[in-house]
Amino acid sequence: MKCSQGENFSKGELQRFGNIELSPCAGVLNYGQGLFEGLKAYKTHNGNILLFRPEENATRLRTGAERMCMPSPTVDQFLEAVKATVLANERWIPPPGKGALYIRPLLIGSGAVLGIAPAPEYTFLMYVSPVGNYFKGGLAPINLIVETEMHRATPGGTGGVKTIGNYAAVLNAQIAAKAKGFSDVLYLDSIHKRYLEEVSSCNIFVVKGNLISTPAIKGTILPGITRKSILDLARSQGFQVEERLITVDELVDADEVFCTGTAVVVSPVGSITYLNKRLFLLLLL
Ligand code: PMP
Repeated sequence: MKCSQGENFSKGELQRFGNIELSPCAGVLNYGQGLFEGLKAYKTHNGNILLFRPEENATRLRTGAERMCMPSPTVDQFLEAVKATVLANERWIPPPGKGALYIRPLLIGSGAVLGIAPAPEYTFLMYVSPVGNYFKGGLAPINLIVETEMHRATPGGTGGVKTIGNYAAVLNAQIAAKAKGFSDVLYLDSIHKRYLEEVSSCNIFVVKGNLISTPAIKGTILPGITRKSILDLARSQGFQVEERLITVDELVDADEVFCTGTAVVVSPVGSITYLNKRLFLLLLL
């Protein structure tokens, strides 16, 4: 679907997967006006298709679009597009227990712009792919390394929305971490360099006794949809839940640490390595 700045998105249509045409001056290519979402469709044993809270993705896209000066599809347009795309690709949804169909909606500034300004035209599209486990080894505990030099987000920036540039910011640290055998990178805040933020593609939780803590949403981490569900679930199960500042040192005393996200679902953390210039700490949870 397309839309000019200040107008509404037109009705979309299904197309065979393929390349799209873009002007070299497109806002997304020059000034990073791009947002995405990620959600999954699951097949159930009785043949139904389940989407996990897709209206939350629609709302998050709209919040992100405001920050990025982009128009966005309505919640209904988003949901209709997701449903139509999933139904058209039903044959690619893995059988129950074997994975899911990952849906990747993209909102981009597709209109041409030369000076720094919002693009005059926008495109909203989505594609799908069957997926299995995000981390090697399935639900086996993952090993994280705390990044002390590079940050994925800074206060006042765009870390709290799902814009494409946030993911370019994590590539460098992620490649280095994977080369050393780690599953992923745990980021710290960019000011004090001691408070937990999140992992490249998921939110983090720390468990101590009956208390489940997770970093508060303050514009530098993504408000994960899985995070919110886990917080609601934990409360309903009688756990004490806190969204707060969590120092990296607190990890030493944690009973359990886990990560949440659409791709990683709920992944247990087996170890966290924190290499400080003066201190070497291997935290075995
Ligand atoms: N943080 C980041 C940086 C992410 O990319 C994701 C994945 N969308 C998450 C957290 C988890 O969000 P959600 O539970 O909505 O997938």
